[in-house]
Order: sequence, then C-alpha cells, then structure tokens
Amino acid sequence: MGVNVLRFLAGAAIAAAMSGQALADSNSVNIYSLRQTYLIQPLLDAFTKKTGIKTNVIFADKGLIERIAAEGENSPADLLLTADIGLLSSAVEQGITQPIESKIVNANIPAQYRAPDNQWVGLTSRARVVYASKERVHQDSITYEDLADPKWKGRICSRSGQHPYNVALIASMIAHKGDKATKKWLEGVRENLAVKPSGNDRAQAKAIYSGQCDLALANTYYMALMATNEKQPEQKEWAKAVKILFPNAKGRGTHVNLSGVALAKHAPNKANAIKLVEFLTSDEAQKLYAEINNEYPLKKGVESSEIVQSWGKLKPDSLPLAEIGKNRKRASEIVDEVGFDQGPSS
Ligand code: FE
Repeated sequence: MGVNVLRFLAGAAIAAAMSGQALADSNSVNIYSLRQTYLIQPLLDAFTKKTGIKTNVIFADKGLIERIAAEGENSPADLLLTADIGLLSSAVEQGITQPIESKIVNANIPAQYRAPDNQWVGLTSRARVVYASKERVHQDSITYEDLADPKWKGRICSRSGQHPYNVALIASMIAHKGDKATKKWLEGVRENLAVKPSGNDRAQAKAIYSGQCDLALANTYYMALMATNEKQPEQKEWAKAVKILFPNAKGRGTHVNLSGVALAKHAPNKANAIKLVEFLTSDEAQKLYAEINNEYPLKKGVESSEIVQSWGKLKPDSLPLAEIGKNRKRASEIVDEVGFDQGPSS
C-alpha cells in the first residue's frame, strides 16, 4: 500500500472521529495542519502528556484554509498550523480566524512575530539566506541588493519568483526600499540569472554543486535537511558544496519568514486550543521545534540546534511580519512586471 493511501486512510479515520458530536466539550483540540505531521507530532505528544488534552490532526499540503471557510460555523477546526506569512495573512483575509488572547503567548513571542491583534502568532522563524559556492565564492558577506550587481551576471539560480518564500522576501524589499527601487532591483537579479527559474530550494543547492551557478536564495532549514539526508545521500554532497551567507547581516538584518498558528473563528474547543498555543510558545516546545525542524525558536533565551548554530549568528530583520504580509500582493505583481520567471533577457 502506497504512502498516499495510508495517509488518506489515516486522514479519513481522523475526519470520522472529528465529525462526531460533543466536540465542544470533549477533552481534545482539533488541528488542521499545512505542516507535515512528523514536524509537529512530537510537540503534540508532549502537550498531551503534560495536560491530558488529546490532539486530532488533519494534514494536507493545501486547501485547508478554504476547507475551514467552507465548513463555516460547523467546522471542527480549532487551530490552523502553517508555514509562511502569505498563508497566515490569507487565513485572516478569508475571515476564518479570531484573536488569540493570552498574556502567556504575548510574553513568549515578540510583537514583531504576531499579527497586531493576534489573528495569527508566529511559532518559529526561518531565514531566507544566500547559498554560495564554497569553491567559487570567496566573500563571506553579502546583501540582497548585491544580487543585482552585474558582477554576478550568469551566476545566480532561483526558484520561481512567485513562490511564497520569494514573494515574502520581495515584499520586505518593498517595505524597506519602496516600489520603484524594488522593481529595479528585481530586474537586476533577473539579468544575473544563469537559467530560467525552476525547482525548489534544494534544487538550487544542487545547481551550485553541479556548477550551473554560484549563488541562490534559499531557506536555512533545507541545509540541515540536506546535510542529514540518509535516504538521499547525494543531498549531503549538495550541502557540502554550499556555504550560507546571511544577507544584510551588517545592516538591517536578514529577511525571515514564519511558521505559525491561527485560532479558527468557530473553534469548538477554544480554551484547549489557546492552552496548546501557550504550550507551543513555551521553552519546552520551542526547544523541541529547534531540534526537530532546525528552525529558529522565537522565544527569547531558547537556543537553536547545533547544526543551525554552526552556520553563524542570525540577525533577523526587525520589520514586523505583518508589514510583509501587506506588501505581498504588490510583490507578486512586480515579479510578473519584470518577467522574473522568464529568466535573463540575453
Ligand atoms: Fe519549506
């Protein structure tokens, strides 16, 4: 039986369990997760052990926001777990959330990583860094602005400019530099591309490994995933060929994105849901996140994993993530206006 079938059966069983009555007064919390189960299950197990509150998870890699919207007042969803500011903003825009009111959460997570009214709360961050060829790139610092410098002509690889990770980065450029300067910058980066954008973040590391290009934008945790990939050991070689440069480390800081959580508007188990969010922002859970996912904990005083620390210190851009959320529509338009995904003009 294929993995997909197994996942479907598990999902169906949970959905059946979730559709029973008495959801509101059951001692449980229902989670719709756009994050893969293996990333969050250890955290949920720790929560259940501590509180006795059971967790039910429905995982899908897309469509869960729409599903909560369609289920309306009858939705069993208490919490939506997801990565990326785009999805968190979209959940709010589609009207499926309500504020997470908790002094504990507010004390644990800095305001920069929460919506102004806590319609979403960040749980971890990841930095969008530059992967650089160890062999062919000798500098040890860089800025996002530098990527438009003609000295990199034909030396940059990228995934689609429309991918949410790149849209968020471009949205942060708009917030810092304005619309016009961002467009000019992105045109410059496009001119420096070695090939038309394609593939995911890991494919960019592979392209550096194979000599197709020297620089690429990618998220930090993929370096850890590649470096420890026993199932596909060739990825270890890709990681070995690459060093991480933290852009704008000496200036405004490196662009970061979030994984986060939102409380569903019609959450049947609201009190339990808030307890879970409080737990996910606690020292114990933040440490688990750091170790399992190799993401950056957001609670002050909690350390990153060893492999993450080995890359050097992250200075995160202090721009509130909500500002990035606001600019992402315009960022996506700029990607099309400069024809980023068509690649270099010559
Ligand atoms: Fe990712």
